Order: sequence, then structure tokens, then C-alpha cells
Amino acid sequence: MATKLKPTDVVVIGLGAAGGVAVLPLTQAGIDVVGLEAGTWLTRRDFAPDEIRNNVRDWPQSVQKAQQEVPTHRVNAKANTTRAGSHPMMNAVGGTTLHYWAQSWRLNPWDFKVVSDTTRRYGAARVPKGSTVEDWPFGLDELEGYYDKVEYETGVSGQAGNIKGAIDPRGNIFEGPRARPYPMPPLRSTGFIDLMAAAARGLGWHPFAGPASINSRPYQNRSACMYHGFCNKGGCHVDAKNGPHLTTIPRAQETGRLKVVTRAHVTSIDTDDQGRVTGVTYVTDGQEFIQPAKAVLLASYTYENSRLLLLSKSKAFPNGLSNNHGQVGRHYFSHAQGAGVTALFPFNINAWYGLPAQGVAVDNFADDNYDHGGLDYIGGGNLWVMSDRRPISAASMGTFGRTPAWGKEWKAFIKENADRTNTAYIQKTTLPYEDNFLDLDPTVKDPLGFPVCRITADYKDNERKVAAHTQERMTEWYKAAGAGATQANPLGTMGPTTHAYGGTRMGTNPETNVVNAWGFSHEVPNLGVLGASVMGTSGARNPTLTAQALAWRTAEYLAKNWKSVTS
Ligand SMILES: Cc1cc2nc3c(=O)[nH]c(=O)nc-3n(C[C@H](O)[C@H](O)[C@H](O)COP(=O)(O)OP(=O)(O)OC[C@H]3O[C@@H](n4cnc5c(N)ncnc54)[C@H](O)[C@@H]3O)c2cc1C
Ligand code: SF4
Repeated sequence: MATKLKPTDVVVIGLGAAGGVAVLPLTQAGIDVVGLEAGTWLTRRDFAPDEIRNNVRDWPQSVQKAQQEVPTHRVNAKANTTRAGSHPMMNAVGGTTLHYWAQSWRLNPWDFKVVSDTTRRYGAARVPKGSTVEDWPFGLDELEGYYDKVEYETGVSGQAGNIKGAIDPRGNIFEGPRARPYPMPPLRSTGFIDLMAAAARGLGWHPFAGPASINSRPYQNRSACMYHGFCNKGGCHVDAKNGPHLTTIPRAQETGRLKVVTRAHVTSIDTDDQGRVTGVTYVTDGQEFIQPAKAVLLASYTYENSRLLLLSKSKAFPNGLSNNHGQVGRHYFSHAQGAGVTALFPFNINAWYGLPAQGVAVDNFADDNYDHGGLDYIGGGNLWVMSDRRPISAASMGTFGRTPAWGKEWKAFIKENADRTNTAYIQKTTLPYEDNFLDLDPTVKDPLGFPVCRITADYKDNERKVAAHTQERMTEWYKAAGAGATQANPLGTMGPTTHAYGGTRMGTNPETNVVNAWGFSHEVPNLGVLGASVMGTSGARNPTLTAQALAWRTAEYLAKNWKSVTS
């Protein structure tokens, strides 16, 4: 029988990137919070620079909940369903920020108003057919203050390109205005990054160092980055990578109002007959607990956010919590991160030294930063060249068709070229479509017997055209920097991913969105949702800083409107 625990004010489900930030504004406002986290605390001692453990064996040191509930995927409702071997996300206090790359981007102004800007500039017919994209309920100006809070509270290194409208060509000249510089200067450059930046300038483009949630100098009594690498899917052994487990969560604990419960696997969000949330049920080592609360913030990453809502059925919500309009799982999309370009240089580039968040970006072909007048698609991509190399992945490099992938010739090729390749990371505009969605798999279950999440989704023409254009520009850039050969890599499809959006989209219309402009359910007033699952557009850059800024905003709204939300 389930043990009923002492009620609290707020339960946060999942203490990752988003939930781990939200606990700070709540506890600072005097609200008691129980943070239920499926994983455990991990420390820098758990993060040896070990490619086998981090990149091959998927961190055996962490709780493996995610690995036991890998979503299934089919490209459309008639296609076969497949299941990947592993889930990319982490179960631990701090969530996936423990082993993420820590690129820490804001969205650009266009990303908030894709529909109205496209319609104004190119006509309504330019919004791709079948896309369910909507403008956000607010613009970048509303989120700017929250971006700023998270950047300073957790620590972000970078070079501003636009402070209150004053453009600084050392930064991204296309970025929206920010109130002040980053708290730390950008991570240092390398000879190869300098070479690529000079080549971009030669092409008339605007290269800049990207932002990273990694210390470029000691910050808040933690070490600066050592640039030794191995944080591509690895945690930081000197705590220079700034996740909530090192910043906002300990600060919330210091208020005496945050109780962190680890190994707590939430299985349902509970409601009363009036359809209000009453708390959650969770399981630890086979034992069931009920944690009553006045409000619940769901922050368990995109797939689990939709899954938990769909699993939480009740009299008031027979099709899943907050799903009486059938919107849970809808407007799902995963960032088009495939379609990179790999280059082979006729010289060593010394990428053994460095990390994925250390690099040079070009935004000239992102968003609507270039004229799409004569084109038949919208959006674009951010070109990112980084310094990152590890032994096992280096040895598995392609041979550009020059040798077989085995034998003596292959060995000689790898020996000569292991430090001569570079693969660009190109993040591209991805849109939601009416036939891309998440639901519960009808047959595959997790070890507790609950259906896993099923992804039905694929990229469409707009994504393919953006991919082709950005690959051409990237190839041009590598060639200008002296690459001897280049290779365009495939776009792939929309299987389980690290940048998953939608499923609980934010918007003012309850017919097409799960949460309102503050991140609270249209149907359940005391249920908030945190993470990229509320985002309706991706922009051309990683989601985490935006998810964290939104999480802070939702938590602050709850604190300021405590009575109206909880009564
Ligand atoms: C290798 C890699 C590199 C990445 N690089 C970048 C990058 O450079 N920049 C960037 O912006 N983003 C990056 N990302 C993506 C980034 O990690 C995510 O955007 C971010 O962590 C999502 O935040 P979240 O809070 O929604 O989920 P998470 O950070 O994954 O946190 C969710 C938490 O919820 C817990 N949880 C899940 N289900 C339950 C449950 N039922 N009960 C209790 N707890 C539960 C999990 O254990 C986890 O701790 C990367 C991801 C990976 C894997
Ligand atoms: S490269 Fe920097 S951030 Fe990455 S693990 Fe090493 S010290 Fe930490």
C-alpha cells in the first residue's frame, strides 16, 4: 500500500536543466518545494575523462531509468516502429546538464514570430503546408530578463553582439538586444578556430565565439575550464560546467525550503474530482509513495512530460491529464541536427585539445538573417565548427572513399588523418507538423509495466531544403579554409533526440496548446510544465538556456500568483 507523505507547497518532477532552475525562485519566495528526482547526486569524481564509460557505455554510474524507457519511433502512422538501443538523456540531480555540451544560446527575435514575420515579408503561403507552427505568445523582449538571470545565476561565457541595440562585431551581430554583457568572456580560441574564423571573414561572413555554460575563468568559487576535452557526453571533473546541481539547486537548499528526494520515479500526477492536481505518486525500490502538493511543476524532459500526462488518467481527464483538447503529444519536433559536413584537411588541426562548446559560429544563414525572397523555404541554420576529438571516435572516422574501412591501408589512412578531420555541427530551423506527434506505444513497456513513449515523426521538405542550403555554405567555408575534401552527411530522421520540442506546447489558444503563456495548463490551473516541451519553435540553436529562462519565468509567476493558482 502506498505511503502518504506530509503535504508540501510545490512538487517539481525532475531536477534537470529546467526543474533544477525553477526551484530557486520558488524557495527564495518562501515556498516549500519537494524535488522528486529519478536519479541520484553524482559528483565530479563520477566523471572521469573516459570515452568508453561516457560515450560507449552510456554512464553506467548513473540510474538507468531513461535507458529502460527508450521511446519507439516510426516515420509515419503506417510505417514500421523501431527502437533505438539507448536514450541520450541522464538521470541525476542536474539532469542532462551533467554530460551535455553546454552550448548556451538564446533564441533570436525571428524565432518567436515565425508566422507573422514570414507572412509580412513573403506572404502567408510561405508557411509550409501542414505545419502547425504558431507565433509564441510573447517576443524575445519578454524573455530577455530571464535569460539574463539564468546566465548570471549559473554562469555563461560568451561575447555579446548586441547590447541595448549597440552592435559589437566581435559577437553575433544578428542576435537580439541584451541588457548587459555575458558574466564571463568567451572560452579561448585555438589555431584551427582562428583559421576558420579568418576564412569566414574572407567570405564576407561574421564569425563569432559561441556562448557556453562553462567557466572561462573561475566563477562563483569554481574552477575555470582546463580544455582537456572529454566533455562530449562526459561530465566535468573540475566542476567548470555549470549545471543546476552546482548552482541553483544548492542555493535553493540553502534557503531550507528545498527537499531533494533522489531515486524517486514519479508514475502519475494525481487529481481530484474537480480536475485539480493534488500531488504525485512515485516509486522508490518497489515502494509506492504519495506526495500531496498545492501545485506541481512537471520537468522530466520532453518525452516523459508527454508520457506522464498521458499515463495520468482520471475521471476528469479520461484521455490523460490536461488532454481534454487532445493536444498532449501534438506539435512535436526534434531539432534537425543531422546533415553536417565533414572535411579533411591536408594538415593536423590539433583538435585533441578542446571541447564541443569551444568553437566558432556563423549565423549569416540562420533564421531569416538572409533574404528568402527567391527561395521556397523558410528558416536556416547556425554553422558551428568546434574543437573536439576523442580516440575511439577518431579511429572510426570515414575514409572519404580513399581506402577500404579495414586492413593495412585503412590503418595507414587513420594514422595519417586522425587529426585532420572536422565535422561541423549545423542546427537548423525545424517546424511542427500536423502528422508529427508523441503518444503511448501500444506494445512496448518499461520494467514497471507502463507503455513507453512512441514518436511518429519525420522531417519534411522545408527541413530538407534548409539542410541542403546550409551544407552548401558549410562546404564553401571549409574549402575557403583549405580543406582538401568534404563530405555532406545525411539528415537522418526524427528518432529519440537530445533536442526534443513540443508535446505540451505553450500558446494562448487552448484548442491548439497545452499550457498558457505562463507555462500553466489551460485545463488544470495548478499544473505547470517546464522544458523544451513547451516551445513551439526551435530556432537554429540548442534549447537549454531558453528552457531554463522559461522555467524561471513560470516559477516566478507561480510565486507571484500563489493564491490564484493554488486556490
Ligand atoms: C550529449 C548531449 C549534449 C547536449 N548538448 C547541449 C548543448 O550544448 N546545449 C544545449 O542547450 N543543450 C544540449 N543538450 C540538450 C540538453 O541536455 C537538454 O536540452 C536539457 O537537459 C533538457 O532539460 P530538461 O530539464 O527538460 O531535461 P533533463 O535535463 O534531462 O532533466 C530531466 C530530469 O527529470 C528526471 N526524470 C525523468 N523522468 C522522471 C520521473 N518520472 N520521475 C522523477 N524524475 C524524472 C531525470 O532523471 C532528469 O534528471 C545536450 C544533450 C546531450 C545528451
Ligand atoms: S573540457 Fe572543461 S568543461 Fe569539459 S570536462 Fe574538461 S574542464 Fe570540464
